[in-house]
Amino acid sequence: MQSVSKFFDGGDIIANYKLDLEVRDGEFLVFLGPSGCGKTTALRMIAGLETPSEGDIYFDDDRVTDMAPADRNVAMVFQNYALYPHMSVRENIEYPLKIRGVPPEERDERVAEIADLLHIEDQLDSDPANISGGQRQRTSLARAIIREPSVFLLDEPLSNLDAKLRLEMRSELKRLQNELDITTVYVTHNQEEAMSMGDRIAVMNEGTIRQVADPEELYRRPRTAWVAEFIGSPPMNLLEGSRRNGAIHVDDENAVPATDDAPPDDVSVGFRPEDLAVTATEPDTDWCLRGRVKTVEPLGEYVLVNVDVGDATVNAKVDHSDLESGQQVFVSVDRGDVYLYDGDGELVA
Ligand code: ATP
Repeated sequence: MQSVSKFFDGGDIIANYKLDLEVRDGEFLVFLGPSGCGKTTALRMIAGLETPSEGDIYFDDDRVTDMAPADRNVAMVFQNYALYPHMSVRENIEYPLKIRGVPPEERDERVAEIADLLHIEDQLDSDPANISGGQRQRTSLARAIIREPSVFLLDEPLSNLDAKLRLEMRSELKRLQNELDITTVYVTHNQEEAMSMGDRIAVMNEGTIRQVADPEELYRRPRTAWVAEFIGSPPMNLLEGSRRNGAIHVDDENAVPATDDAPPDDVSVGFRPEDLAVTATEPDTDWCLRGRVKTVEPLGEYVLVNVDVGDATVNAKVDHSDLESGQQVFVSVDRGDVYLYDGDGELVA
C-alpha cells in the first residue's frame, strides 16, 4: 500500500490516512488496533471491496487499486463465517471450484484434502446449521483455502468462538498458514491473538499505522507512548515528568536521574509492570520511586501490586508479595528497562 487513504461521507470520516505498508511474500501480517481505527476498511481495500480515495495498492508490481475483487485472487474470511445455509459443508467448500468449472472428480479430491487439513472430514455431509461454531469457522476457512488464493484476508475470524476454541483455532490457523505459505493479512483488536500469530504487527489508531514490527520488537521497543500503552497487559506504566536540574521529576517527592538523551522539558517515563520490584525497604538505586500500596491482587500466575505514586497509580507484576494496602513502599526498576518519551509521545531512549 502506498499512501492509501479512505474517506467516507464526502471526507467527513477519515477511515484510513496515508497507509504505507509492504506485506512480504508468505508473511502473516496482523492489523491490530482498537475498534473503529480503520482495520477492516484497510483489509477491504486490499480485497477490492472498497476503492482507496487516495494512494495505490500493488500485488507484487501490479497496480490493483481499481481492479475488481474477483480478479485479485484473494480470499476473505469474516467473523460471521458467511456460509451458504442451503448447502452442505461439502457443497460450501467445493463451491469456488464449481463456479470455476473444475470437474467433479478433481473437486472431490481437493475437498477431501482440505477437509483433512482442517479436521472436518467427518462433517462433510452435515448442514452448516447443525455443526459447532468452530466447525463452521473451519468450513469457511476451507472454502477460502481451496481457491488457492495468492492473498488470504481474515477479519476477526475467531471472535465468535468461545475462549478454549479460540486458543485451539489460533494455533491451527498459524499451522495452516505455515504449511500453505500463503501471504496473510489478519485483522484483530485482540493483542494476544496478534502477538501469538503475527510475523509482524501493524498497530493502528485513528486510521493511521503507528508502528509495524515483529511481536518482540513491538513489546520491547514501542516507538510511541500510545503503542507502549496499548501493548501489554496490564500496559506499560507511563508517568508524566519534567526535567529540572539533572533529574526527571514525576511528582513533588519523586525524581529519577535524567540521562543525556532525556528530552529537555516534558518527559514521560515508562516501565513495564513485570520489570518492577516493590519493596518495603529502600533499595540502593536512583531508579526508585516512593509510593503507597493501593491494592494487592493475588492472581495465581502472579501478584499485581497497585502503588500510588503521587497522583498516578503504578502497576507491578511480582511473583510473591506480603505487602499490605496502605504500606509505604519503594518501586524500583533497572535503568535498561526504562523508556523515555518526549512531549510528542515519541520514544527517545
Ligand atoms: P472494528 O474493529 O469495530 O470493526 P475497525 O478498526 O475495523 O473497527 P473500520 O470498520 O475500518 O474500523 O472503520 C473505520 C471508520 O470508518 C469508523 O469510524 C467507521 O464508522 C467508518 N466507516 C467504515 N465503513 C464506512 C462506510 N461504509 N460508511 C461510512 N463510514 C464508514
